[in-house]
Amino acid sequence: MLEKIENIKSEINAFVVNNPDTLEQFRLKFLSRKGLLNDLFEDFKNVDKSQKGPVGKALNELKNLAQGKFDSAKEIIENSSAGENKIDDYTLPGRTYNIGTKHLITQALEDITKIFERIGFKVAGGFEIENEYYNFDALNTPDYHPSRDMQDTFYLNSEGKDKNYLLRTQTSPAQIHVMQNQQPPVRIISPGKCYRNEAISARSLSMFHQVEGLYVDKGVTFRELKGTLDYFAKEFFGKDLKTRLRPSFFPFTEPSGEMDVECYLCKGKGCRICKYTGWLEILGCGMVDPNVFVNVGYDPEIYTGYAFGMGIERTLMIRHGVPDIRMFYENDIRFLKQF
Ligand SMILES: [Zn+2]
Repeated sequence: MLEKIENIKSEINAFVVNNPDTLEQFRLKFLSRKGLLNDLFEDFKNVDKSQKGPVGKALNELKNLAQGKFDSAKEIIENSSAGENKIDDYTLPGRTYNIGTKHLITQALEDITKIFERIGFKVAGGFEIENEYYNFDALNTPDYHPSRDMQDTFYLNSEGKDKNYLLRTQTSPAQIHVMQNQQPPVRIISPGKCYRNEAISARSLSMFHQVEGLYVDKGVTFRELKGTLDYFAKEFFGKDLKTRLRPSFFPFTEPSGEMDVECYLCKGKGCRICKYTGWLEILGCGMVDPNVFVNVGYDPEIYTGYAFGMGIERTLMIRHGVPDIRMFYENDIRFLKQF
């Protein structure tokens, strides 16, 4: 029996306890109800009376040894795991937090607004829900114009109204509101969201942003329009990017034009992005059609003006070489962090 106690004593001393798992293994093996020590105490009942003294003493020492080892190991393990939650190691590197930034679209709207504010334009707000009068009629877009088709416009339920409500397809209705409420000179830009019922693809979304500009006064000329747009393109795209104006058609301007910038990718040589023309269209513009002035009560014999409008997503795709318009709204932080 004494020999058996001696063997278990060396086993206890050799047992490595250094984490919660080995601590539990130690307890099960030696101290639990089915452990080795309990077995020894059971055996002790059958020990010869003459031997009970020394065997009992050795047995108690063994129990104290095992319990002592268990208690001290338990204390060390608990203290070290508690230590993991304490912040007392000032040599550790600090934690860094990601700081949010403005979305690329917001940044662009602010940039464009500032560029035009520097030359005297004021920001005019608009409404995302308009009726046919402001979105089409007042802008000289007759009933038969294809952009009034259900294909392009999201109409809203407006039963009983003589003009249907819709989600504006352009920011131009803001011009009409301003001109109805203010006599010339008018010099505004109007940034905001527009909606068109288009199939979603790499080049088009059903929601996008536009900035619209309008300048009306006595004697405003096409030359001023061209100068203003050249100034904008140089400020926004950089000084060395070439621009050109080309004739076009819009119902609310006459004459109308479209402005192109040199392709950012091939620098005018021609590539897949610019369809081998060397140019990318960035905005539509023109002299305000006299019919629009009549609709808002301005005398077209006295006043002239110009208007222009551009899609923000498209403009940014050109400026930053973004290949797919959907990337602006996927909120992939790897994309957004670059700006
Ligand atoms: Zn190109």
